[in-house]
Amino acid sequence: MEAEVMRARKLDSVRILAGGIAHDFNNIMMGILGNLNLAKMLVGQPEKVEHRISEAEKAVHRAKDLTEQLLAVAKGGRLDKRTASMAEIIKESGDFVLSGSKVRLDLEIAEDLWPVDVDVGQMNQVLSNLLLNARQAMPGGGTVRVEARNVVVGSEDQVAVPEGRYVLIRVQDQGVGIKAEYLDRIFDPYFTTKDRGTEKGTGLGLAMVYSIMRRHGGHVTVESEEGKGTVFDLYLPASHKRLSQVRESQRPLQKGK
Ligand code: ADP
Repeated sequence: MEAEVMRARKLDSVRILAGGIAHDFNNIMMGILGNLNLAKMLVGQPEKVEHRISEAEKAVHRAKDLTEQLLAVAKGGRLDKRTASMAEIIKESGDFVLSGSKVRLDLEIAEDLWPVDVDVGQMNQVLSNLLLNARQAMPGGGTVRVEARNVVVGSEDQVAVPEGRYVLIRVQDQGVGIKAEYLDRIFDPYFTTKDRGTEKGTGLGLAMVYSIMRRHGGHVTVESEEGKGTVFDLYLPASHKRLSQVRESQRPLQKGK
């Protein structure tokens, strides 16, 4: 890409990011201000005042959540890594996001899946964000398929990730798909095609996914066809440890030994 075009793209992303943050915080501040003003007018009606104050409190919590999401994109906080299997994390996120929805989860997890060194909470976020997007892409219901298997990427392989041993997690939906011209922007913070507020589009989900994956030394790729569906591939470097070794070393030491 030409330098000029790249600079313009960068500026675009910064504008979208700054505009998004300003817009969200402005809405939250207006919510706090509006409720405090009403509370002032309602002095003498304690119950109504209390309601207004708790509405203002909720807005403060929204601001806090938003700040945490932005920090997760920016630096992600401290990674609390341990050696784990992705199988449990996938199942947990699936239950969390899809239970009670019209979207069915079709799981295929290899039995001998290599362990990975991950921050379990953050990996839960990665899976949950992808599954939530899949769910929203299929408003009429459908199936989201999640496959997990071991792969060895070699120099001759046609994938956009460096050579190595990975656990590959593929999240595939049959939803609305993504327009080709949006594909290289969906990981930008605050890029969203969803109606903010109504569908709860924040535009921060995939930015978080990308940031967390990179901080784990992993990679994420996407392929999509409008009207057909979308496939996200997560590549997580396989751990050098084996789960059995980890379990052994995590046992409490016995007295006298
Ligand atoms: P949000 O979901 O809040 O909009 P994301 O960063 O998670 O923010 O996603 C950015 C955009 O990428 C979405 O608004 C949507 O246009 C597109 N997108 C992401 N996942 C999917 C999917 N599974 N199917 C269709 N579009 C998707």
